[in-house]
Amino acid sequence: MTTVGVLGAGQLGRMLGLAGRALDLEFEFLDPAPDPPARIAGHVIAGPFDDRQALSALAARCDVVTYEFENVPVTAVGALAERVPVYPAANALETAQDRLHEKQLFERLAIPVATWHAIETIDDLRRAADDLGLPLVLKTRRMGYDGKGQTIVHDGDSLHAAFERLGGRPLIAEQRVVFDREVSVIGARRKSGQVAIWPVTENRHDAGLLRWSLAPIDDQAIIAAAHGYVESLLSHLDYVGVLALELFVVGDRLLANEFAPRVHNSGHWTIEGAATSQFENHLRAILDLPLGDTAASGHAIMVNLIGSMPAIPGELARAGFRLHDYGKSPRPGRKLGHITAVADSPAARDRCLATALELLHGPVDPRVSLREP
Ligand code: AMP
Repeated sequence: MTTVGVLGAGQLGRMLGLAGRALDLEFEFLDPAPDPPARIAGHVIAGPFDDRQALSALAARCDVVTYEFENVPVTAVGALAERVPVYPAANALETAQDRLHEKQLFERLAIPVATWHAIETIDDLRRAADDLGLPLVLKTRRMGYDGKGQTIVHDGDSLHAAFERLGGRPLIAEQRVVFDREVSVIGARRKSGQVAIWPVTENRHDAGLLRWSLAPIDDQAIIAAAHGYVESLLSHLDYVGVLALELFVVGDRLLANEFAPRVHNSGHWTIEGAATSQFENHLRAILDLPLGDTAASGHAIMVNLIGSMPAIPGELARAGFRLHDYGKSPRPGRKLGHITAVADSPAARDRCLATALELLHGPVDPRVSLREP
């Protein structure tokens, strides 16, 4: 029996573990939280990610180790890698953990990004505001996710307060992109070099959190560019596993926002909506097994369940939705689960999305197009 170790036992670990059942795999998770979502999918070692004893126990029990959270310490990955193969390797993790290194990598690979400045001092920020104009987006270089560690600065008077709020840490200032929509592209690469890329997904965020995704989009120029960018990242990093690249669409241009060296919320639709899910192909990639077909089987939507679980699971099921409950306790702003549906046309998919949002959040104003930002 092959045992896969996972740093982190949240919902991504849980869905990896569930996908691993079809591949006859066992799972060992390491997570500091009591009672984490992945507890139903394998054994959980309770401990901090930098606990030497816990890491040593994980290494001893696993044939290969991966992670579901990009803020795991690079030192933990390094320590594990001395004893057991760890994928994706530390180079990808290190780059994704620092927005400066991430942007420099995008530029090296000729992947366009919004204009940016590295910020250490308030004078750097003033210079950035002169160059980029306002509003601008100020982000911590490290430890940001789901919109945490970032703020929009609208006017010159707010520069100092924003710097103070996020300051004391290296920052990045970015031009605020007025995008038409956001998309992501997810690819997998196995050790021997095979690459598989899923159709491009459209994503709607609100307050930094992903609200819903739909896939596939049908703009061929955007698909070709997005696939090219993710391919070049996968090959440059000599990457093993699944990688997600988030992009802004501005007219016919794409600007990269960030990449995640892991399975991604915007790929949850692949469980029901693609021949092979991102979770299965991540496992296949790190075990150097042939990657499965990434073709979409229809037109999918995924809506995140944030803050509370719906009181109407039966109604959602009758309306054709699949419910994924991560088994977490409710808290405002917390991702607790998601629902998915696969329709047979883009029009039916848009109706499905409207139905989902109405069932979850009440009547949607028909004058407001769900597809327009
Ligand atoms: P991030 O943490 O970088 O993934 O940002 C979370 C979300 O904030 C993105 O998905 C966008 O919706 C928004 N956002 C981030 N950076 C920018 C930017 N430079 N311009 C406009 N919106 C942004």
